[in-house]
Amino acid sequence: MVHVRDKHWADEIADEILATGRGPHEISTGISPSGEIHIGNLREVITADVVHQVLKERGIEVTLDYVADNFDPLRKVYPFLDAAVYSSHIGKPLSEIPCPCGGHSSYAAHFLEPFLSSLERLRIHVKVYYADQMYKSGMLVPQIVQALRGRDAIARILHECTGRKVEPEWSPFNPICGTCGRMTDTLVKGFSEKAATVDYTCSCGGRGTVSMKGGGKLTWRVDWPARWARIPVTIEPFGKDHATRGGSYDTGALICREVFKAPPPFPVTYEWISFKGMGDMKKSKGNVLSVHRMLEVLPPEVLRYLIVKTQPMRAISFDPGLPLLSLMDEFDDAASQSRDPRALKLAGADQFTPIGVPFRHLVNVVQMADFDLEQVIVILRRNKYPVPDPAAVKERAGYAIRWLREFAPDDLKFSVQRALPPAARALDAAQRAFLSRLAGSLRPGMSGEEIHALIYEIAKQVGMEKTTAAFEAIYQAFLGQPKGPRAGWFLAFLEHDFVVERLREAGKAAAA
Ligand SMILES: [Zn+2]
Ligand SMILES: [Zn+2]
Repeated sequence: MVHVRDKHWADEIADEILATGRGPHEISTGISPSGEIHIGNLREVITADVVHQVLKERGIEVTLDYVADNFDPLRKVYPFLDAAVYSSHIGKPLSEIPCPCGGHSSYAAHFLEPFLSSLERLRIHVKVYYADQMYKSGMLVPQIVQALRGRDAIARILHECTGRKVEPEWSPFNPICGTCGRMTDTLVKGFSEKAATVDYTCSCGGRGTVSMKGGGKLTWRVDWPARWARIPVTIEPFGKDHATRGGSYDTGALICREVFKAPPPFPVTYEWISFKGMGDMKKSKGNVLSVHRMLEVLPPEVLRYLIVKTQPMRAISFDPGLPLLSLMDEFDDAASQSRDPRALKLAGADQFTPIGVPFRHLVNVVQMADFDLEQVIVILRRNKYPVPDPAAVKERAGYAIRWLREFAPDDLKFSVQRALPPAARALDAAQRAFLSRLAGSLRPGMSGEEIHALIYEIAKQVGMEKTTAAFEAIYQAFLGQPKGPRAGWFLAFLEHDFVVERLREAGKAAAA
């Protein structure tokens, strides 16, 4: 028996959250800006945003935040970085090292700025916490003191949950060395609660005392629950890697309760978005689909829909090639027929204008129009598409053009040649006879279907054994390549006089 879900997953999650009796609510998201923030990371903020939306609909007081973990150290020289520049920055906070392009205030800002502007385009409005400011302002000093005091309790929790031994000199706080700037090689030697300082030594030979205000950072497994307690966070979505037994949510929840004396947030776990043919889209791979790049080829509502329509614990496989056309058309169809209204609403479909032209069709039309947006409208109108909203069609055509340039497979690309392509001179006598006869039989206003039938009929009349030779003749005459879009519709979309003239010319042309 098929189980029909009568509720959207975000509504179900909201029910569970309300059953906890906590509130007011703060939904927290966070991504370390160590590299390009990609579409896999988007699942976190979109999942959080729809839960936020549902709670607001129910009149619940709720805030959505994004913690930009820019105080995290650079872990390694990623493939997209210049090793000569960045090897000396490993271990330093991302907010304190230079940006790769020279145009941003820091390494972290370089990756954060495009991501934050993409969030605006996705209509996700977050309260941003910059981790470096949280530390430097002293906001986390009470949690740093609790963590240093509770060092043994934390070590016990980590050992019990993860099975890994915690070294005797381990500390939950990593001071930033005043000599080398790194926080990955320092050891805590003592601390003063009164002065809010921590004493350290470093493997570089440096030693000294840092302030708890920005002089270092809590280690990740402690930093996360420290935020939960401090902000305080009541709901947090995270990837399934954090949700494993003994993972950072498990240890964080215990540390939050025992050390920071606060309840942990309600967890919302999500699966990865995998990139077809490229494995899981985790970070720190050079070749990723950044969010701002995806927004060049997909409207924000469609990108939201990709994530909203799928249960968080179901994997999403994303392929920016041909399947992207289907996603766009699936959304356009759903929006024009008001199918799956809950997912559409949460995706923001009220901001979307269905244009009544399939995207995969538009991809051909923009090429026939030679990427001229005015010409796109002319071609569509000539073919009885009403185009009530030319601006919406032009906007969508822009996505089609960028998709063609960025992700389209080569066999989908073509260009209508202004003069008879030289390859058309190599057609055989039967093909030329076919083209001439087709020129004589076409009438203005014929539909793609009618021309399609005509092609078959004439191919038979001129004694062609295979219709593929007829199609090839058409493509060579117009495109100078053996393949192209569906021929009947292709010819119907081009201007009638141009088509007839070109067919005649190609029918006459024989190799010299
Ligand atoms: Zn930059
Ligand atoms: Zn050092």
